[in-house]
Amino acid sequence: MPVLGRDAGDLQPPPLPGVPHSQARDDFQDGKGRGAMDKGGSAPTSVASRGSQLLPARPEPAMPAPQCASCHAARAALRRPRSGQALCGACFCTAFEAEVLHTVLAGRLLPPGAVVAVGASGGKDSTVLAHVLRELAPRLGVSLRLVAVDEGIGGYRDAALAAVRRQAARWDLPLTVVAYADLFGGWTMDAVARSTAGSGRSRACCTFCGVLRRRALEEGARLVGATHIVTGHNADDMAETVLMNFLRGDAGRLARGGGLGSRGEGGALPRCRPLQLASQKEVVLYAHFRRLDYFSEECVYAPEAFRGHARHLLKLLEAARPSAALDLVHSAERLALAPAARPPPPGACSRCGALASRALCQACALLDGLQRGRPRLAIGKGRGGRDEEGSSGPPPPPPSDPGSAPGPAAGGCGATCKERCE
Ligand code: SF4
Repeated sequence: MPVLGRDAGDLQPPPLPGVPHSQARDDFQDGKGRGAMDKGGSAPTSVASRGSQLLPARPEPAMPAPQCASCHAARAALRRPRSGQALCGACFCTAFEAEVLHTVLAGRLLPPGAVVAVGASGGKDSTVLAHVLRELAPRLGVSLRLVAVDEGIGGYRDAALAAVRRQAARWDLPLTVVAYADLFGGWTMDAVARSTAGSGRSRACCTFCGVLRRRALEEGARLVGATHIVTGHNADDMAETVLMNFLRGDAGRLARGGGLGSRGEGGALPRCRPLQLASQKEVVLYAHFRRLDYFSEECVYAPEAFRGHARHLLKLLEAARPSAALDLVHSAERLALAPAARPPPPGACSRCGALASRALCQACALLDGLQRGRPRLAIGKGRGGRDEEGSSGPPPPPPSDPGSAPGPAAGGCGATCKERCE
């Protein structure tokens, strides 16, 4: 998305007083911050190379920006990819909020009176989501609660939680933090990483983490009396997920991956993604123009996640077809699978009662497999279902040798926190 009135090389948010410009610029240029594929040695994709509507990368004399197409008073600061509209920062933010409002109302995602748990990680997506919903809450008639999850990742999550606490204090929103260690019998992500080291699954920390975090967010939301859960997934996240599911041949996830959320089947709380139709670039620009304080460091666990490949592929697709991300999202919504490909109706986990398509839910199966030293059997599409499930007793304790914890792996996974959260 070009930022107008600047040299072509300045395709990035303009600096604002008091805003960490380098943070917004990096997030904008990388789309996802620093994706795994970019970290792998290939040259980061230039914003200028993506999309036919972008300006050329070679320096040109600065041209005066046109007037904002909405207010006709201020100079335009950007041109929106979808509409081509040139807008100033204030009008862009107003339009962005109006579109999120339309998404929520048209999809009937949050009924009046809903108590909404916002999954807050401190990152840009959940920060923008919380800020926009706080602006819209009076019109929607909903109340907000921030719920953050402490995965137990030394040297990373503490700083992210500090950002969430600053947001809660600044916006006067109640905040609840739930920890893996409390919910899962002492297991933290650091303990999971120690347990999976050398198992062949040690690169899949995000896959394990996503299963546990989805459960943790549900528990946290119930703790605060929420009736609905919202997460900050944007259009790029959803497009990557669609690509991943296609590439994995995961018909079950494809079948339930469309739409703007789940209605809360099997007793689970309804979940939705109000930013699902907003592009990553616009989320970053909204955070920039609203001067939002968010956390943009990477998790210490670099899983070499499959999502990194999907992200790279999406960038290539967007270079040829700028609407590729939204097209993929809409494709998933319209996808109709043959009856044989649909997953079986969900039931209840025999251990914890949560939603499950097998005897044990994913989280209990994961914890069971970790304790048995066979984490590979605890997760994934599986080869037969019930042979992957363990006993129905309580989850066992984690290993306690902190000295064997793997250090930060090379690379970093950007926003792969969304690996399996939805
Ligand atoms: Fe968990 Fe992966 Fe997110 Fe780290 S990056 S918090 S391991 S999902």
